Amino acid sequence: MAVRLAEEWFSVCAGCEVTILDIGEPLLDVLKQVQIVHMPVLMDHKVYGQTGEGTSMEIPEAEVGIITGGIRTEENKELAKEMRKKCKTLIALGSCACFGGIPALANQYLAEELLEKVYHGSKSTDGNGLPGKDVPALTDRVYAVHEVVPVDLSLPGCPTTPEMVAGALTSLLQGTPFTMSNKSVCDECPTKREKKSVATLKRRLDAPEFTAGAPLSEMRCLMEQGYLCLGPATRGGCGGSDGVPRCIRAYMPCEGCFGPLTDKSNPMVDMMGALSSIGLDPKQIPDRAATFNRFAGAGRLRPLPKR
Ligand code: SF4
Ligand code: SF4
Ligand code: SF4
Repeated sequence: MAVRLAEEWFSVCAGCEVTILDIGEPLLDVLKQVQIVHMPVLMDHKVYGQTGEGTSMEIPEAEVGIITGGIRTEENKELAKEMRKKCKTLIALGSCACFGGIPALANQYLAEELLEKVYHGSKSTDGNGLPGKDVPALTDRVYAVHEVVPVDLSLPGCPTTPEMVAGALTSLLQGTPFTMSNKSVCDECPTKREKKSVATLKRRLDAPEFTAGAPLSEMRCLMEQGYLCLGPATRGGCGGSDGVPRCIRAYMPCEGCFGPLTDKSNPMVDMMGALSSIGLDPKQIPDRAATFNRFAGAGRLRPLPKR
């Protein structure tokens, strides 16, 4: 019998939904085994009944539930609770759902400040006032899904990787355990480390030194080349079948999208140590809290002092 699957998206860009499509051919095998009962990005299934006749949100029961996106509105919060109630196994898919993701950078501002800026204080608005009463209210900040309801499995990444989604879904369908990397991106990075000091940080758009077509083991570590690479403070697992981290493969530094090494890690402390160890002064980075928590601001970034 097919496994029932429900999916919801909250404060999100839909890149993680595209990742599900990116699974490619193995997705056909997964689809044969599931029955999608709710997925707004794919099907017109509404939560207050198809004609709005319902008085409370309702999502069909499902064995597997997937949530993408962090929680930014009271409606997101209620839907998260309904998903938790109706889904036996609940997956937070992507860094927005796992740690707030890029939208949680907004946690550096109060909700009222954001509304003021967007609807009054921006040169591109015409001052028509705040949205009307039918728009869901903002929560005080962006929350990761696990801060609101218990989550059974968190699959990070911005976007998450097709290999990880396929692996997790297949394990769930077959009833076998699914394990994730507990290494850092640096642990999985094949570049060459010489442990020599670097004086200044380079601009991200400056091209690093590498020989096209040569093995990555011949390229010098990007941080030792002077780029801000968050590999030391970021959980690994973003590589494909050969395990090479996704950005390093493209000769780009890691931006930290798989989130902190553990739930209790502090990326700021980890990165300060890593930068200092090769002689780079972390004070060169102007917006450190946001830079080091770019994808993990839920519960980590707080409103900045009034300017
Ligand atoms: S984790 Fe990234 S790709 Fe996925 S929904 Fe959030 S912003 Fe989009
Ligand atoms: S700092 Fe970046 S480039 Fe250097 S080893 Fe770590 S992940 Fe690789
Ligand atoms: S290398 Fe870093 S930023 Fe790039 S995909 Fe992996 S975890 Fe994300």
